[in-house]
Amino acid sequence: MEIVFLGSAGGRVAVFKQFRSSGGFIVRSEKTNIHIDPGPGALIRLTQIGLKPEETDAFVVSHKHLDHCADINTLIEAKTMGSWNKSGTLLTPESALTEDPIVLRYTLKNLERISILKEDFSEYIKGIRVTVSMKHKHQDVETYGLIFENNGEKLGYITDGRFEEKMIEAYSGCDAIIINMTFIKERDMDHLNMKDAIRLIKGIRPKIAIINHTGMEVILTGYSKVEKELEDATGIKTIVAREFLKVSFPSMEFSKIKLKNPIGIRSLDEWRQEHSKRTDS
Ligand SMILES: [Zn+2]
Repeated sequence: MEIVFLGSAGGRVAVFKQFRSSGGFIVRSEKTNIHIDPGPGALIRLTQIGLKPEETDAFVVSHKHLDHCADINTLIEAKTMGSWNKSGTLLTPESALTEDPIVLRYTLKNLERISILKEDFSEYIKGIRVTVSMKHKHQDVETYGLIFENNGEKLGYITDGRFEEKMIEAYSGCDAIIINMTFIKERDMDHLNMKDAIRLIKGIRPKIAIINHTGMEVILTGYSKVEKELEDATGIKTIVAREFLKVSFPSMEFSKIKLKNPIGIRSLDEWRQEHSKRTDS
C-alpha cells in the first residue's frame, strides 16, 4: 500500500487562493487506486504525475465541504467518459447526496455503485478494506474518519473535526495516521490544531504521522518547523504532506514523485498510443 498526496492545503484561504495545492490523496495497492477527498485541482494534479482517473476504482468523500469534493464531478466524468464506461464506486455520507448534493444527477448515474458511509461501515475495494473509524464533530456537516487496511497494514485518516478523547481509541493500532491539522494555535473550532495533533500522536503512537489539510497558520510557520515541533513533543516521525509526496508501506519511506506532465497537459503521443491500441483490438 502507498499514499500519494496531490495536495495538502486546507481551509478557505490556503485552498481557494492556492497557497499550497489541493486535490486530496490516493491510497494505492498493486490492484487498486482509491481517491480520497478530491478537492480543487485534483484532475490537473493527477495528470501532472501521470495517474489516470480511469484507473481509480473508488472515490471517497469524507464530507461535503468544497475543499474535499470540488472535483468529484470532474473525476467521475473523467473515469466514466459520460456513460461510455459506467464504473466506479463513490463512498460518502448520505447527506452529501441528499441535501445540496455534491454530485450532479446525470454524473451520478454513470457510477456503478454508491456506498453510504455511516458509523458501522466497512467494505472491501479490491483488497483494501475501508472502515469508518468514527463520526467526527464538524460543524453541522455529516463527517466520518476512515481506516484503510491492506496486508495487515493500517492507515488512519483523521479528517476534519473537533478533538475528542475517543479518537485515540478509534484510530488505535494504525501504522500511519493522516491528521487534518488546520491550525497551530488552540481555538474553539471544529478543526484540529497542533495541541490536538500532539495528543493524537502520543495516544495512537503510529510509526509515522502525516499532517494534512494545512491552513495559512501552518503554511506560514513553515513545514520543517512544524515537523520538528511535533517530533520533539511526541518522539514519533512526523511529516507534513506536500504536493506529490509518496509514502510507502511498510517501510514508511517517503519521496517526491517526479512530474510526468509538469503543466498538467498530456502529450499527444499518449493519445496516439491509446488510439492505435483501440483500433488494433
Ligand atoms: Zn470540512
